[in-house]
Parts: sequence; structure tokens; C-alpha cells
Amino acid sequence: MTTFTAGPKLGLTASPTRTAIMNLLGLHHITAIASDPRTNLDFYTRVLGLRFVKKSVNQDDPGTYHLYYGDYAGSPGTILTFFPWAGIRVGRPGHGQAYATAYSVPAGSLPFWQTRLARLGVKHGALETRFGEQVLTLFDPDGLRLELIATAEPDPRAPAPSPEVPAASALRGFHGTTLGLVEAQATSTLLTGTMGYRQVAQSGPRTRYTVAAGGPGTYVDLLTDPTLPRGLSGAGTIHHVAFRTPDDPAQETALATLESRGLAVSPVVDRAYFKSIYYREPGGVLFEIATDQPGFAIDEPVASLGTRLGLPPRLEPHRAEIEAALPPLR
Ligand code: ZN
Repeated sequence: MTTFTAGPKLGLTASPTRTAIMNLLGLHHITAIASDPRTNLDFYTRVLGLRFVKKSVNQDDPGTYHLYYGDYAGSPGTILTFFPWAGIRVGRPGHGQAYATAYSVPAGSLPFWQTRLARLGVKHGALETRFGEQVLTLFDPDGLRLELIATAEPDPRAPAPSPEVPAASALRGFHGTTLGLVEAQATSTLLTGTMGYRQVAQSGPRTRYTVAAGGPGTYVDLLTDPTLPRGLSGAGTIHHVAFRTPDDPAQETALATLESRGLAVSPVVDRAYFKSIYYREPGGVLFEIATDQPGFAIDEPVASLGTRLGLPPRLEPHRAEIEAALPPLR
């Protein structure tokens, strides 16, 4: 492993072509696949109390939505996004995928969620303890595995306001993601040797990693389970996991670093609300690195996020026909 210590003696002047340390800040967003967009919208906004941050289209299939849920402003580290395709086959969670998406909730709030999920008929499991914290597993209408982690760690992030979920119990953003793997060593080496992550906990088949300042919103758990079936993409599965990097120069450094380690990385793709690069980690999970800038307020004010269909500039001339083809959401 080659790393550089930042400092004037080494002359680190942010040359994008030189191998440097990747500057990742935690999770940016997680993208999953759903079937019916209206059912998806109702579950994440009403049942879980997240804010509908952005209504956009799948840039590779503009006849379908790309829906984003997060905190009030759509802050990085809170955003779960979906490609809903009505009638798509049901996926199979397994190895080579992000296996679970965990949210940070306040300590003591899980009884509220047990009662609420039972009353609303949402499939969920029993409380379990993981690394000393209580975890409640639940499943969205397509079977996507979600976890609420009642963490004792400080998490100052303000949850989205919700008429049905009091702030004292609300989802504050991601806690972390769990990757399903049959063999974790190469993924661990990528995280710690290239992406700047460090191991912070280990128990049985689960090893936890964090980055930057650590805490909720940064965690990646590697779950090693040779009995996991191979994951099949479809409704109820995660498509990719995106990590945060602050800006364009940091992303160029990340791209150069990954390529210097022999990974195949996409060119920078402008996703309007952030810029992205994509690569597949050795266990098969699709990773993305997304910039914090410019964010979701570039095409509508924060106060009205999620109301106007957001389109990238190249699709803007086709707005009328795109809007007419999409199913109404509310
Ligand atoms: Zn993404």
C-alpha cells in the first residue's frame, strides 16, 4: 500500500494524475429498485416519515421515475433513491449486493417503531443486539431489507418533519450499509488500503468499517456468509451504494487513485445534483463516488423540494412528453 502524508514537504498540490489519499466522508446515497412508484412514495414518506426530496427520471430510461427520499434538505448521507419499474421481476437479495440499509434512530425509539409497523402491517423482525446497540429489521413493500439502529452515539442530524413520526423517534439519516459477501478479504483491502476506511468492530461474520470522522452515516459492514445465494437484481434489491466526496477535485483524485490500483472506473457522469464515478468492488457490489455539490436545490427551492419534475438539461426540451408519459404520483 502506498500512501502519502499530507504536508508541504511532499509537495502535495492536488495533481489529479497522482496517487493520493481518497477523501471520502461517508455514505452519500443508496439506490434501490422498486415496483410501483406510488406504493414506494407512500411507504417512505408516510410510513417512515422521510421527505420526498426529488422527483426525477431515470436518466437511462426517462419514461420511468427516479425518486429520492431524505432529510429536509436532501443532505448527503440521508438519501435513499429508487428506480421504480411497474411489473419488474422480484429480485433476490444475496451476495454481490448491498444487503441491508440501516438508518440511525434515537436510543429508546424502537418501541415506537415496533408499534407503528405492527399497526400499519409492515413486515418486521424481532429486536436484536449488534455491537451493543438494538436493531430492528423491517421490509419495504417490495421486500427491501431496512434496519433501524437505536444508536447511543451522538447524531446531531435533524430528521425530516413528519405529521406521523415525532422527531424523538424519527430517522436521522443513514447509519450504514451491509454488503453481502462470500469472501470479504479483497473488499476489506479495498476499503482500508484505498478508500481510507478503517476497521472499528468485528463480531462473528460481521466486520464494521468507518471513514473520516466516523459515526452514523459512515459505516460499512461486511457480512461474510458463504451460504448467501448470488444476489439477483430486481424489485426489493439495492442497485448501488454511493460514497461522499466533497467536490470535483476530490473526485478526480479518487478516480486516479482507483485506477492506479487497477480498478475499472467509469468517467465522471454529471447527475445534475452531483457528479458521479462508478466501479465494482471485488465482491461484486457496485460502488459510486458522488460529490456533495451542487445538491438538490439547484432546480427548485429547498422549501418545495420534490414537487417539480427535475430533468437534466439534455432532457429539458422533452419535458412535456416526459411528464405526460409518467404515472401521476399524488
Ligand atoms: Zn447513485
